[in-house]
Amino acid sequence: MIRDQDRSPPLVAKGKNKSSNSLPMPSTSSKKSKKIVSEAEESDTSSEESNVSGSEGDYVSWISWFCNLKGHEFFCEVDDDYIQDDFNLCGLSGQVPYYDYALDLILDVESSNGDKLTDEQNGTVESASEMLYGLIHARYILTSKGMSAMLEKYKNFDFGTCPRAYCCEQPCLPVGQSDIARSTIDGAYFGTTFPHLFLMTYGHLKPQPAPRSYVPRVFGFKVHKP
Ligand SMILES: [Zn+2]
Repeated sequence: MIRDQDRSPPLVAKGKNKSSNSLPMPSTSSKKSKKIVSEAEESDTSSEESNVSGSEGDYVSWISWFCNLKGHEFFCEVDDDYIQDDFNLCGLSGQVPYYDYALDLILDVESSNGDKLTDEQNGTVESASEMLYGLIHARYILTSKGMSAMLEKYKNFDFGTCPRAYCCEQPCLPVGQSDIARSTIDGAYFGTTFPHLFLMTYGHLKPQPAPRSYVPRVFGFKVHKP
């Protein structure tokens, strides 16, 4: 169970979070592809081109697009303001390749150098953006704004509920077993601190000890230890 710890998503609940990103990533240069993702998601069409609708009102930011992808239900939307403050990103530039491009993509800034990249490089920028977003997310959810965004998700059961019968549908929280990111959806994007700080902040949400404990029985008789 522990062997693959850094790679497995911080799932506490089963199901729901199969991380198959069936939707294609928006390309670094094209804004059109981003516009229609929310609709494409709802109608579950694989061909996004068929869904393009004209008005600018449909514009979806990279961040909303990313957070609404299947399998990304655990992510809350990080405020632009938070990302624009360099102080909050301190130390991340060394952890992500094509950092500047990745940041531009997240913030929907049309990068002036974007066209010089090859397709392969653009692909790298796209996955770098996902990683960078995750690392920013891990920091953001420790701030009061981020934590209240996660509170909404918690109340909404977005993180799933405990499958154990006697836990009575206790809502779960995501936790990372490491703060170093290694895969697409990684515990590190939630961090090792989050759930603990969350329950310290919102003490009233701390689950009570289970009222009943399970007693194994054979034909109605308790099983005695030898
Ligand atoms: Zn439980």
